[in-house]
Amino acid sequence: MSASLTLNDITPLSIPGVESGYPIVVAGPCSAETLQQTLDTAKALSAAGVKVFRAGIWKPRTMPGGFEGVGDIGLHWLAQVKRETGMMVATEVATVEHVRAALDAGIDILWIGARTTANPFAIQDIADALQGHGDVAVLVKNPVNPDLDLWLGALQRIRNAGITRLAAVHRGFSSAGQHLYRNDPQWHIPFELRRLAPSMTILCDPSHIGGKREFVEPLSQLALDAGFDGLMIECHCDPDRALSDSAQQVTPGALSTILKKLVVRSGIPVEDELGLLRQQIDDCDHELLAVLARRMSVSREIGRFKKAHNLRVVQPARYQDIMKARIEEGDSLGLSSDFTQSIMQTIHEESVRQQLDLLNETS
Ligand code: PEP
Ligand code: MN
Repeated sequence: MSASLTLNDITPLSIPGVESGYPIVVAGPCSAETLQQTLDTAKALSAAGVKVFRAGIWKPRTMPGGFEGVGDIGLHWLAQVKRETGMMVATEVATVEHVRAALDAGIDILWIGARTTANPFAIQDIADALQGHGDVAVLVKNPVNPDLDLWLGALQRIRNAGITRLAAVHRGFSSAGQHLYRNDPQWHIPFELRRLAPSMTILCDPSHIGGKREFVEPLSQLALDAGFDGLMIECHCDPDRALSDSAQQVTPGALSTILKKLVVRSGIPVEDELGLLRQQIDDCDHELLAVLARRMSVSREIGRFKKAHNLRVVQPARYQDIMKARIEEGDSLGLSSDFTQSIMQTIHEESVRQQLDLLNETS
């Protein structure tokens, strides 16, 4: 049976205090660091109308040596947030022990992080630990790699464990090279998830996609316009001193301003064909620019080699060969020879210009 079949019956996640048609906002620090920081941030967020507080206490860090979270003591801090503000509280779980400890502490929402979603063994262990706890809500972030099936498989495993309060979180995908955003959004992947599980709540995490606080607002608006049901936003009372993900966290005040500015539109169908196609065009352009930047850096490397060996920058025979081969290749891909030729000429001109600049440098 395909995973999509049983994801069909997932009902939207409802959060007390969030009216239907309005985005669910989950906000809070990347990591709980101290009781004071946790409470200060939570109280300010609650005053701004946020109903779900997030804080990581077991932090999956890509590299060893970073801040790996405060651990179990953070569960008491989250319980205190719940008591003092009435907000629902959410934390990340990555192991069976985390699940058990979080359930014992009365955490309302567990989320599964991108690094964990990529590992079906870990997901199955978590799913097994969730059996019999059908009242807890679980958010499943997309895996770090752009693989929709891994994401679907993780959602399906959690669903099969009897969890019906299930939602997905889109946080972008790791990709090689320099990009505008920290994690490449590849919007077509959550859009396809939406098509396969039309009634499931899908949140967007603009903080981990953008990686910088200035991207939070535009990405949040984009996500709402594209039909996401809500946002998970990292928020810290003193972001510049945050022990993890400092650059992308916003203050509760900034978040409150962003939330007031966001336009919640109704009736924008998520299946809006034109919107989906335009998003694919944007994705292609980001890829194109990244490839062009990579090509120019190789070209400068060649320029340095030519300079060191006293070779001419323009090698006409090589240029003719490249042009002929690229036009043939373009032709086989359905691109007209004029189009391929003019693009290759422009790229070549820029390569030559950069190599000549290198040659003329005095050092
Ligand atoms: C987080 O939400 O702090 C986190 C670790 O996110 P992700 O799994 O998306 O990297
Ligand atoms: Mn984070």
